[in-house]
Amino acid sequence: MTEELNPFKIAQKQLDKAAEILGLDEGTHAMLREPMRTFIVSIPVKMDDGSVKVFTGFRVQYNDARGPTKGGIRWHPDETLDTVKALAAWMTWKCAIVDIPYGGGKGGIICNPKEMSDAEKERLARGYIRALGHYIGPEKDIPAPDVYTTPQIMAWMMDEFSKMKGYNAPGVITGKPLCIGGSKGRMDATARGGMYVLREAAKYKGVPLVVNEENLHKPYTELEAMDDPEPEGDVVKVAIQGYGNAGQYAHLLITRLFKNVKVVAVSDSKGGIYVEEGLPYKKTMQVKKETGSVVNYPGAKQITNEEVLELDVEILIPAALENVITKENADRIKAKIILELANGPTTPEADEILHRKGALVIPDFLANAGGVTTSYFEWVQNITGYYWEFEEVYQKLDRKMTAGFWDMIGAMDEFKEKNIDPRTAAYVVSVRRVVEAMKIRGWV
Ligand code: NAD
Repeated sequence: MTEELNPFKIAQKQLDKAAEILGLDEGTHAMLREPMRTFIVSIPVKMDDGSVKVFTGFRVQYNDARGPTKGGIRWHPDETLDTVKALAAWMTWKCAIVDIPYGGGKGGIICNPKEMSDAEKERLARGYIRALGHYIGPEKDIPAPDVYTTPQIMAWMMDEFSKMKGYNAPGVITGKPLCIGGSKGRMDATARGGMYVLREAAKYKGVPLVVNEENLHKPYTELEAMDDPEPEGDVVKVAIQGYGNAGQYAHLLITRLFKNVKVVAVSDSKGGIYVEEGLPYKKTMQVKKETGSVVNYPGAKQITNEEVLELDVEILIPAALENVITKENADRIKAKIILELANGPTTPEADEILHRKGALVIPDFLANAGGVTTSYFEWVQNITGYYWEFEEVYQKLDRKMTAGFWDMIGAMDEFKEKNIDPRTAAYVVSVRRVVEAMKIRGWV
């Protein structure tokens, strides 16, 4: 990995920019540039063939000035400590921008879950908690699912932690199945939160998105049951890169929460497709489920993942990988709003180019904060033991996301003479909140 694309270096560079604008003193800045605490653990797992394999696990507790650290656990063969550190830093800013009482954390295990049986995965999940259980907990550090970790894995982890404690502790982990304390609305929360900020961004940028008020806080299950609506009036075109949890729900929600949207292109790891008349959600999902990829959509024009980003659309949603928008292609991007559901899709150089061109990049740690915000609601429900209906979850989510967006715009206005880009503005808001907590606690 080049220095330029090392995610932790990128996270530090982004922070440095905000620190300069805020005139942070050296000590405070230094405290925010590195994690507060990092764990590296060895996890022995008995494999099905009788051998023992030792896996390396990470947990980074980046900063807990505002509350317990919070962040997912990724299982990936290429997992690195730097990736986990970067993601833990971003979690810190993410929780602060939507003003939930958490610090940032992240975890990971170097493994290939695609080559493991369910029993091996369960032993690995329980081993990770036995290694780290004393350092996490509802008041300390609350993990969640991330790349290749599932509600089932969260259930095993919660169970192991509860056994260590001797009582049921559902608040130790979020993203659990509903029957053991998961929250309604968690499934589509990331994309849902993205839609609420997108609505505000469209108002700000003068993109004529028409809200379907009736559907705005309707359960995703009801929206999935609906036929695909025909877009009405002044049509707004959208392209989505990535067709997993974030991308699929973005497709469902953007075509139901707004009345005049046409999704003209989607993609997954096999490539992209373009359909001028618009791609209906139901049929695209059916093709994805039955054939494994959207590229098999009948009659669609085949395009590359790079071309998806450069289409003539008003809204672009990167929902797959990091570093896809770089200084090489930023000039060719035509969208007026870029909603970063993926983590880290835009490099700092590309950010500057897009800002100069007048595009509004809604930064990942705001755009995809719906997931962690709903995780926070799950934790609140676990602690109080009182569970909410879908509408209540979505309405509370809407308020948090909307407030976060306008706080970011407020910082852009405040530093107008410096012409700061939206990501830097969001950093300014978040860093200021974390610094305020560190100062009042007497850390710096
Ligand atoms: P996922 O594993 O469900 O889906 C990922 C999608 O990306 C798949 O459709 C895959 O085919 C596609 N993909 C893989 N390689 C690709 C490539 N080279 N080009 C184009 N597409 C490719 O993951 P997800 O949960 O949807 O997460 C996607 C992004 O959103 C990640 O960056 C993740 O960190 C971020 N995110 C997700 C959540 C969440 O709650 N799911 C929350 C916050 C951030």
